[in-house]
Amino acid sequence: MTAPTKPSPDNPAAPAPGSDRGAGHTPSGTALHSPVIGWFDEHARDLPWRRPEAGAWGVMVSEFMLQQTPVNRVLPVYEQWLVRWPRPADLAAEAPGEAVRAWGRLGYPRRALRLHGAAAAITERHGGDVPSDHAQLLALPGIGEYTAAAVASFAHGRRHAVLDTNVRRVFARAVTGVRYPPNATTAAERRLARALLPEEEATAARWAAASMELGALVCTARNEACHRCPIAAQCAWRLAGKPEHEGPPRRGQTYAGTDRQVRGRLLAVLREAHTPVPQSALDRVWHEPVQRARALDGLVSDGLVEPLADGRYRLPLS
Ligand code: SF4
Repeated sequence: MTAPTKPSPDNPAAPAPGSDRGAGHTPSGTALHSPVIGWFDEHARDLPWRRPEAGAWGVMVSEFMLQQTPVNRVLPVYEQWLVRWPRPADLAAEAPGEAVRAWGRLGYPRRALRLHGAAAAITERHGGDVPSDHAQLLALPGIGEYTAAAVASFAHGRRHAVLDTNVRRVFARAVTGVRYPPNATTAAERRLARALLPEEEATAARWAAASMELGALVCTARNEACHRCPIAAQCAWRLAGKPEHEGPPRRGQTYAGTDRQVRGRLLAVLREAHTPVPQSALDRVWHEPVQRARALDGLVSDGLVEPLADGRYRLPLS
């Protein structure tokens, strides 16, 4: 007996649960490309890292910043960053602590250290130019699969599957027929993303940017705006009657009271001080001593804070 087929990234051709559609109704990549890219041509936001003058370095900086922070918070920090450090070598010439200081309140500040480390490697290995080759990008410190693919695609027009949270949600709904993708990216999602890539390199790069923008503006996590969606007529999840999420509970985004909040407060003190600060200045920002010490230890072990022999602390100089 053949087991019933359930749509999954492994088997995107299967009908969605609750649907009486045949396998042939699941949208193919080619049927999606043209409407999504056409929509993007008309509705894409004019963001500074999408302008030609941003260059590959601008794209790389934006990708580091946007990974866990919304566009509106990234914009002012991005603009200041590029004015101060218009090339990777400009950033590499400064202490890593300056990158952490300029990162401001974007959150997850290890990204600032990783960006600084990547800038130093680009300066040493590639004469200060961000490489266009995916393997060379991936070989840089602090750059993972996502960022390498995004920079190669958005900055250099290469053909790569760029799988961020927005793209994963669009593919989950439109192709797989479920409300949400898994909590962490799976090999099956990567296979699906590669299968959906247009053959032609320039079209593949447009598709990567367009499918991401569709997830950011129309097919959002909370409110999918299907009436404005260019692929509504083909969307597997919509056509199946939008079945409820069946997977494990989705991860929450709690912040208040967490070690992340304490770390943020401790770092804010150090960012604003241009000389080393005593322990007492750090003790004032959080009432609970065990959690405070744990957060400070974490910042030190992550290389974001440097303890000095005299008991004071500062942002890292090297
Ligand atoms: S039709 Fe609705 S659910 Fe489907 S991709 Fe478009 S916005 Fe998302």
